[in-house]
Amino acid sequence: MLLKVENLNVFYKNKHILKDVSFDIEENEIFSIVGESGSGKSTIAKAIMGLIDYNGLIEYKGKDIFMIFQDPGNYLDPLFNVYSQIKMVKEAVKESSGMDIDKAINLVGLNVDELKKKYPHQLSGGQKQRVMIAMSLARGSSLVIADEPTSSLDVLIQKDVLCAFKNMKDYFSSIIITHDIDVVYYIADRVMVLKDGIVQEISKKDDFFKSPKSEYGKTLLRNSYLSNY
Ligand code: ADP
Ligand code: MG
Repeated sequence: MLLKVENLNVFYKNKHILKDVSFDIEENEIFSIVGESGSGKSTIAKAIMGLIDYNGLIEYKGKDIFMIFQDPGNYLDPLFNVYSQIKMVKEAVKESSGMDIDKAINLVGLNVDELKKKYPHQLSGGQKQRVMIAMSLARGSSLVIADEPTSSLDVLIQKDVLCAFKNMKDYFSSIIITHDIDVVYYIADRVMVLKDGIVQEISKKDDFFKSPKSEYGKTLLRNSYLSNY
């Protein structure tokens, strides 16, 4: 087991945002958290990253955790070429056991020489997400948390980026946060359904799409494009 979250509770002021959230992440697993906007998905990510106060237990056994946001452009420096930024991220880890940078770049389907010349604004949204994945490989992260990584991308590009995540399963586990049940269908090994800060169910992907355990899971599935499957 790579990550254990037990009875996670988060309050903002007096508002109870996460209510006894518990789940585990295994090695080399793609775990998806799905729920509508405001259900507390990003708050789970922030708690794992140690960015907010919480009650409960978060136990992590891996090396580095890497977080990828919906709009990675905000986290890249406009003044440096992209290659040098991947290098900086790698070198920020003291004894980096991460992958060779050029290998990481090739693995996510980008071109080394091009990234040495290009600045963030010259990359598409899909390419920027790939850069983030390359960064996590170069760092040697054992867990990647991606918060709505494809929400601002065109549908076809979304599939590309999700496919890139899928191909990285040998290298790290990922938590893919999404409001889009289609993303879950495409990428996840297991899915956790969240509503109003409460876990509704945790299921293997195939079981979920065959027959969701929770009422809310059923509702999500009924309202998706996949309801015909
Ligand atoms: P999601 O990512 O599923 O859309 P969030 O985790 O961002 O949901 O938010 C969950 C709830 O917490 C929402 O009701 C949101 O308004 C509230 N919230 C998020 N961040 C803060 C904050 N910094 N202060 C107060 N309330 C917040
Ligand atoms: Mg969010």
